[in-house]
Amino acid sequence: MQRFVRVITDDLADKELEYVIPGDWASKIEVGSRVKVPLRSRDLLATVVAISDQATVEGARPITAIVSPGPVLSPALLDLVRWMSDYYCCSLGAALRAAIPQVIRRAEVSFKRERYVEPILNVAPDELEGLRRRSPRQAAVYDWLCGLQQHPTRWADARAGAGTTDRTLQQLVERGLAKVSVLNAGRDPYGGETFIPSRPLALNDEQQSALHLVASSIQERNPQPVLLYGVTGSGKTEVYLQAIQRCLEHNRGALILVPEITLTPQTVERFKMRFGAEMVAVLHSHLSAGERHDEWHKLRDRRARVAIGARSAVFAPVPNLGLIVVDEEHENSYKQEEAPCYHARDLAVVRARFEKCAVLLGSATPSMESYQNAHSGKYRLARLRSRVDDREMPLIRVVDLRQEFLKQKTLPIISTRLGLAIEERLQRKEQAILFLNRRGFASSLICNACGYVCECQNCSVALTYHLEENRIKCHLCGHAAVAPGKCPQCADPGIRYAGYGTEKVEGAVRKLFPQAVIARMDADTMSRKDAYRETLTSFRTGKIDILIGTQMIAKGLDFPNVTVVGIINADVGLHIPDFRAGERTFQLLTQVAGRAGRGDLTGEVFVQSSTPFSPSIQFARHHDFEGFWEQESEFRHRCDYPPFVHLILIHVRSEHQGRAELSAETLHRRLREGLDPSVTLHAVVPAPIARTKGAYRFHILLRSRAVLRLSRQIKATIEKITFPEDVHVGVDVDPYYLL
Ligand code: ADP
Ligand code: ZN
Repeated sequence: MQRFVRVITDDLADKELEYVIPGDWASKIEVGSRVKVPLRSRDLLATVVAISDQATVEGARPITAIVSPGPVLSPALLDLVRWMSDYYCCSLGAALRAAIPQVIRRAEVSFKRERYVEPILNVAPDELEGLRRRSPRQAAVYDWLCGLQQHPTRWADARAGAGTTDRTLQQLVERGLAKVSVLNAGRDPYGGETFIPSRPLALNDEQQSALHLVASSIQERNPQPVLLYGVTGSGKTEVYLQAIQRCLEHNRGALILVPEITLTPQTVERFKMRFGAEMVAVLHSHLSAGERHDEWHKLRDRRARVAIGARSAVFAPVPNLGLIVVDEEHENSYKQEEAPCYHARDLAVVRARFEKCAVLLGSATPSMESYQNAHSGKYRLARLRSRVDDREMPLIRVVDLRQEFLKQKTLPIISTRLGLAIEERLQRKEQAILFLNRRGFASSLICNACGYVCECQNCSVALTYHLEENRIKCHLCGHAAVAPGKCPQCADPGIRYAGYGTEKVEGAVRKLFPQAVIARMDADTMSRKDAYRETLTSFRTGKIDILIGTQMIAKGLDFPNVTVVGIINADVGLHIPDFRAGERTFQLLTQVAGRAGRGDLTGEVFVQSSTPFSPSIQFARHHDFEGFWEQESEFRHRCDYPPFVHLILIHVRSEHQGRAELSAETLHRRLREGLDPSVTLHAVVPAPIARTKGAYRFHILLRSRAVLRLSRQIKATIEKITFPEDVHVGVDVDPYYLL
């Protein structure tokens, strides 16, 4: 009997195609298998998404090769891919490509094979005696092998460990005293590290009831999300750990998403310590292709049952999934900024539905979306109101930069109060963190005489001055040039550096505290792969007194000895044309403040601002999430913003301004026809950053209560229009940045 498959090809197509399985391959192919199929004159890689006995088209051609027989996608993940292509307005091919790592799709990397050796143990005693007399060196190596805790051992390790040669080992094999085997050698990104086992802690009452809620969801296979809202340091991670323990006890797997894994090595450590290094597989963008291949297979083949990773790990192949945890669910790094523009937290919630598993979202500053869902009863809410052991929340002091300006006649980088606090803490051998979400030295170069501002030649933004390299750089496209000594326009030498970034903060702090050891962490100083880990280790072990950084240091880091945190300028990011500016600022201040006083010492936080009465600053100061949420909700509701509606942003861009605008207008006109009256379609506008990387950008914004129908309509409309070749049209559903 002939069998047929439907496949999705890797070339971003949006259609399923049908092929015949050649007779003797039928037993080797299942849903999720990777194959090669002919399309016109080419062979394409493809994924099998359905198998049947009945053809739906005539003259289907046969599959030409099997690339990997084992499934790369479970039925639940396939459902997720289909949902994703529908919701996020991308092709099936694009959704599939996002879901399966390239090393797995291409199947060009395989396991590393290595030689292993082990001793033969039941050897006659007189034979051994003979060996000891005739060749004591071989006997010593044999004894060394027998003394190992684990068999077999890598050949190369044995040779080095026993201090011997290939030849001696080979002689043991020839005498029948040792055996060689060739095995898969794991490429473990954490191979060189040891993890000291940790035991579950006795939970406090609030943690207990949070765990209870999640555990019953796991038990009942209830995908209704649980939102765990717990202040920084309230023990959320311990709840995750114990919930995962429940999964493992029931032979089910778990998936943990963290915002940016390279920024939180501590998190991986805590999971590996609790469940053993082997049980936990790690997926993130800094793995080599070989490591990623091995970690992925460890999960699919059930050798590891806990997956931990950043955004794309939402697709991790964990069989019999019991729980998905999304840590710091409010973090914007869960949102993918290029197509397909999915949000990993939202996909996690949908995946839980397809997997019939529990989903737990944790945060100290829940997103407006998730908290609204908890409020409306769509999610269940668990709260951790206090820090573990009733440690105090740090004291937050707001420093009014306007007053400082009046007193000092210049705007200081470090206010008098912050300076004094740092000095006092340093004397007590405590540590400080200074935070500014802007790198470089000066945020722009302005000519005093003619007002000329150095702008990027490709983007409509000012260039940032970097002192150490003496260059001006564009943070959007990477364009860089030597900093001009005089104005490029009027040749006046009085060109001035306006605004400041972390590099300038570092200079100012070095002048103020010449004795202190200071380190800076931002994209400029952390370009090397291990730099981040090294700096954090030095900071943790007390070799650094003051750490200066961008949002890199705002994330879940835990330093017990940090007692003073300075937010150099809270206004950065607050006064920009984006409805989420207030929410982002509130979250950032709360998270950064959470870095202070994690140990036995109480911490102090200084927030410097020229708009000290902004609601996001005031609510953060009083640790008042509810208050912030209420006010922000009211604003979002009044102005028709998420979480009360969904936004869809369509980008149209081209290097040719006229063609971009015209294409956007055409698309706008076509969209308007047949649009549901409940949907708001806004006019075509130039994007707030009107030009990046040489391309002019136009936006079309839509608001709607429901997404799926509108998304399908947009996709269909775009497909029907033939845009000029240089015009690129992208759709961002639930966009995070509107710039
Ligand atoms: P969060 O994830 O909410 O920031 P953590 O889980 O990192 O908080 O907990 C903060 C600290 O408190 C950690 O050092 C953790 O080991 C400790 N901790 C958590 N729960 C308990 C508990 N029930 N008893 C004692 N210590 C705890
Ligand atoms: Zn640029």
